[in-house]
Parts: sequence; C-alpha cells; structure tokens
Amino acid sequence: MSRIKLAILGQGRSGRDIHAANLSLLKDLYEIVAVVDPLPDRRERAAAEIGCATYADYRELLGRKDIEAVRALADKYNRDSAPFGVTAQAQANAPDGGGCFGSFSQFYMTCYGDIDPCDFNPVSFGNVRNAPLAEIWKKMVSHPEFCGHRMSCRMQSQRYRRMYIDPLTDDEVLPVLIDRLPGDGTILPKEEVAAK
Ligand code: SF4
Repeated sequence: MSRIKLAILGQGRSGRDIHAANLSLLKDLYEIVAVVDPLPDRRERAAAEIGCATYADYRELLGRKDIEAVRALADKYNRDSAPFGVTAQAQANAPDGGGCFGSFSQFYMTCYGDIDPCDFNPVSFGNVRNAPLAEIWKKMVSHPEFCGHRMSCRMQSQRYRRMYIDPLTDDEVLPVLIDRLPGDGTILPKEEVAAK
C-alpha cells in the first residue's frame, strides 16, 4: 500500500509534539513530506528530525503536486466506516466544511470537570462538580458568542481572540470562567464575579 503524503502546518506544541510525533509512529501509512513554520529554528529542527522539506509560508506548498489533501484523508476515513471518524481542521474552515463544532455539537470536559466549547478554547461555562451538565450546556449555547453555528474556527478568529483570549494573562489558571470575560477585551477579577 502506498503511503499517504502529508504536510504539517506549524511545528509548535501541536504540530510537532502531537501530529509529527504520532504520525512518525505510523511510517507504514504516512509520510511527512513537508512542514511549514515561520520560525527558522523550528524549520531547522523539523528538517533534522523528520528529514522533510520545510517552508516558511504555507503558500509555498501550493506548488507541490505530491501532497495529498488532508481533507481527502478525512473524507476517506468517514466514508470507509473506519473505527472512528476523523475531522481535519481544514474541514472545519473550508467553504463547504462543517464549521466549528464547539458549543454546536460538542463540548470538551477537562480532567477537573470544567466544560469548555473545545479543547483548544480555554473558556469554561461551569464545572460538573458544581452544576448539572445540562445546565452548563444550556448556559453555553445561550451565550451570544456561542449560540448558533459558526462556519470557521473561533480560536483562529482575530476578533474572537481579541475579545476572549487576549485578556488571559500568563498567571491565569485555565480554563477561565466565561463570566469573567465580558467580551470587550477585558477580564474581570475573580472576586468581582464570585460576589455577584
Ligand atoms: S474553536 Fe476551532 S478548534 Fe475549537 S471546535 Fe471550533 S473549529 Fe475546532
């Protein structure tokens, strides 16, 4: 069976430590032929570790004909009734894709019981140790920012990040309760929210 040729965008925590690390364990199925990262030291590291081509800009990939679309890979796994479905990020953001699942058809529960829209979004709507899940879900899908189906990734939206992510300082314990984030680019002190 010929291996599926893949490119990985980004060589940070997710791109290198999760995607490249896991795909490297499946060398009989996948071949990482390129990575993209704007940081030169990450590109050098990827070239040494993976031995693939590196690019600073994803647009440079467009000239390569050998890279099989991640979207096609996800479609194949879903169509062929694989043991589990696969969704590529490209599928969430594509014009004909499924959009963002967070607070639409999924939530994410941390190991501490916090309920977030997804594992990338460090905003919590409550904790199952303090409130029923149904109540927390209702709070999430009633929130003006999280009700309705968004057709692109919130965490990749500059507008969303300005409103809800940029106010998070390094010393905050994540996820942060949504009540502390009024959506105007500020964060309220814990005490102020607790007193309400
Ligand atoms: S915010 Fe982005 S990463 Fe999270 S579920 Fe939506 S599309 Fe996926």
